[in-house]
Amino acid sequence: MTTLDPWGAVKIDNYSKLFDEFGISKFDELLGKIKNPHRYMRRHIIFGHRSYDSVLDAMLSGKPFAAMSGFMPSGHAHLGHKMVMEEIIWHQQQEGDAFLAIADMEAHAVRGKTWKECREYGINEYILSAIAFGLEPGAHIYFQSGSNSVRSLAFELGIKANLSELSAIYGFNGETNIAHMVSALTQSADILNPQSEEFGGPKPVVIPVGADQDPHIRLTRGLAEKINWFNAFIPDTEKSPHGLHIHIYSKSAPQEAFEALNVIFRKKWKSNFHAGHIDILCNTSNVDETFEDVKKITKDIELKYGGYAFMPPASTYHKFMTGLQGGKMSSSIPESYIALMDKPEDGAKKVMRAKTGGRVTVEEQKKLGGEPDKCTVYELLLYHLVEDDNELLEVYKDCMGGMRACGNCKKYTAELMSGFLKEHQEKRELAREMLGEFELQVTKII
Ligand code: SF4
Repeated sequence: MTTLDPWGAVKIDNYSKLFDEFGISKFDELLGKIKNPHRYMRRHIIFGHRSYDSVLDAMLSGKPFAAMSGFMPSGHAHLGHKMVMEEIIWHQQQEGDAFLAIADMEAHAVRGKTWKECREYGINEYILSAIAFGLEPGAHIYFQSGSNSVRSLAFELGIKANLSELSAIYGFNGETNIAHMVSALTQSADILNPQSEEFGGPKPVVIPVGADQDPHIRLTRGLAEKINWFNAFIPDTEKSPHGLHIHIYSKSAPQEAFEALNVIFRKKWKSNFHAGHIDILCNTSNVDETFEDVKKITKDIELKYGGYAFMPPASTYHKFMTGLQGGKMSSSIPESYIALMDKPEDGAKKVMRAKTGGRVTVEEQKKLGGEPDKCTVYELLLYHLVEDDNELLEVYKDCMGGMRACGNCKKYTAELMSGFLKEHQEKRELAREMLGEFELQVTKII
């Protein structure tokens, strides 16, 4: 028996490798705790996460958290970018701090865009669209080249990254220009920037990304760990009847920070300071609470003495939309995607030419039903054009039951698309007038 699953077009089978091989957790496990989950969450388009529980805990308990994403200003913003913008905006609506980076250093170094082009694309394609979708003043919008703090942090992170590691992720070789490598580190700095002192220090930060972006997230999580001074752990081999042993070690913390830590620990527990590490013996019955206490103390001291004490950045992973002709969306094939600045009539035409999950003949369609799970038109409704879950379920049921003809369905979707583009483009003009309400760190290079 066929089960009706209106979210079937986004089955996660193709992504299961990410859970098994790379340790990405399933988003569904957190879904029940989220108040008013976003459409992408409800419909399982966001399927995985790393450490999103830290963001959710902060959200539910009214503590600071943030969401950030970067956009490379080298081409037209399209529906894929809209997904990320909406996710950032949703987190801002849940009281999170929102960060939007324009990756102009990357566009300049990797795509050869001039600084002027980067600025124009950054503002006209990405920033205006994000504001039109609902980004509110208070969001931190910056061009990488205009942010001294991001550039300084990228330099610091460079001390902890080596060429082999970056090559494995980005495919660098002897021909790769150095600025390209710097721009990769700048991307990591963008991700960690919301946790810098300027923005209130360490906090949970989520980076909503497509499933292919996980290597960048893993790199940055690794760099965050490496740049932090202290590492605390409970050695398995040292279970003592006298209490809980905890080791804290560091290769980079200054002596004065170690000494300050030791003073605090001594007041609470037995503590010994050796070169590069501290051993403490805690008289406690609550291991977890004591360990958390130790980690908090080390973090506070690290911040007091000038370290970063970053939390590992969290991430959510969403599925990709299929290209309108089937296969992948590609920026070099305009027919494969709908750009946010496509004329409404052109967007509608692209929908009319899109690949459907319809059968070869009308009779077959009536008899067997369509295949919405393989239909790019249905995908547009699912991802973007129908907010009401019940309405979408009706489309799905009618299609599966053979009650829906592809021609009419495409016309309906094309009208929705044309209306969406028209409204979005009108809102962008209003967004242009609102630009002054935002604090923009624009490029200083031109
Ligand atoms: S009826 Fe609509 S949803 Fe079903 S296959 Fe045709 S275009 Fe797709």
